[in-house]
Amino acid sequence: MTPINATTAVVPQERRLVTEIPGPRSAALAARREAAVARGVTSVVPVFAARAGGGVVVDVDGNSLIDLGSGIAVTTVGASNLQVAAAVAEQAALFTHTCFMISPYESYVAVAERLNELTPGDHDKRTVLFNSGAEAVENAIKIARATTGRNAVVAFDHAYHGRTNLTMALTAKSLPYKHSFGPFAPEVYRMPASYPFRDGGMDGAQAARRAIELMDKQVGAEAIAAVVIEPIQGEGGFIVPAPGFLTVLADWCRAHGVVFIADEVQSGFARTGTWFACEHENVVPDLITMAKGIAGGMPLSAVTGRAELMDSVHEGGLGGTYGGNPVACVAALAAIDEMTTLDLPAQARRIEDTVKSALWAVAEKLADQDRGVIGDIRGRGAMIAVELVRPGTDEPAPALARAVAAHALSRGVIVLTCGTFGNVLRLLPPLVITEDLLVEALDVLADALMSCSPR
Ligand SMILES: *Cc1c(COP(=O)(O)O)cnc(C)c1O
Repeated sequence: MTPINATTAVVPQERRLVTEIPGPRSAALAARREAAVARGVTSVVPVFAARAGGGVVVDVDGNSLIDLGSGIAVTTVGASNLQVAAAVAEQAALFTHTCFMISPYESYVAVAERLNELTPGDHDKRTVLFNSGAEAVENAIKIARATTGRNAVVAFDHAYHGRTNLTMALTAKSLPYKHSFGPFAPEVYRMPASYPFRDGGMDGAQAARRAIELMDKQVGAEAIAAVVIEPIQGEGGFIVPAPGFLTVLADWCRAHGVVFIADEVQSGFARTGTWFACEHENVVPDLITMAKGIAGGMPLSAVTGRAELMDSVHEGGLGGTYGGNPVACVAALAAIDEMTTLDLPAQARRIEDTVKSALWAVAEKLADQDRGVIGDIRGRGAMIAVELVRPGTDEPAPALARAVAAHALSRGVIVLTCGTFGNVLRLLPPLVITEDLLVEALDVLADALMSCSPR
């Protein structure tokens, strides 16, 4: 396996705790934050970052934490990747902004060319750039509506598509994303998804037919502009649909003139062991939305899709002041180059092997002691979830998930949770994390699971 290029990180790659968590400097900043920052925005980890890179985040007190979250699947190439940092510095000195809608620049076009090549399918494609994942999803739906002349949009149980009005409507979970923020955008219909751990043996094709029948009966294919789906659901619990689910759904969309939108904001860019998660099922979406891992931490998002759909929108109908910012575009080009030269899809598959075998070992140990709290281990590449339950049931154990994450953090490992029921630990390390650091983090996580699971 490719050794991780030393140029991906200059921050020492180590777990090192020098104060309690949070330390005094973080605590002081937390007090300032409380007085200045709106309460609605919260943080998973109570420490303030000073540096980050490779597989670690170093806080203002000098604690070095192993990062199994990548700032939610963003810092795939590391948070201070030298190639990305150099590209950003160089571009910032040339110009930070002109607005692509005023005077265009080459890097935007180059990103579009790269995305047209990298995304699934060899058909003619076009790309448009934005700032955030939610903005990409909104625009994909604008494009689908313009091209079909239809209004309805179908999303799924457990879906997460963002926090703007339309994407809140698409998102399934009320607290914390939607609660008190309505009314939501109309013409959004929610269908059951495929959740193998909770579907009682239903296979992918059956789950797809269940959704299709409801779409037919409750909406009508001829009214549906788009079906939008995460090929692996992210915030909803890293749910990998049963094989066949996506294919049957995509085939039905094609047969009925419904635009199939794959939201790969979280699952894209080498994260799952392929460039895009759709590829595992050979599904070619009409439109694909991308953000998070695209630009080494710089804010950038994109919609790429079939040229005839993308170009059905009237001139001037798409855009935004900052969309495809030049600094973000050069960062994306550098990040994509890094993903290619370091073969990060292969690194993601290496991470999957290491993570899953460590997790299966803990699951077995817990089960042997009649403490079978690990209901499911799933995911692909460096997007792996552990679903925690009450032993012997499928009853969610969200308090246990929180306790395990807190225990790991107190030992210097950042672990995120997710899931409709809040009972899923999700592991999504930077793809440039070294094997040693990953194994060390998994040892800490295993300890946390052993210590926190009820006896
Ligand atoms: C994070 C996420 C979004 C929203 O992206 P933002 O950049 O936070 O707006 C949309 N879809 C999926 C699948 C995501 O994981």
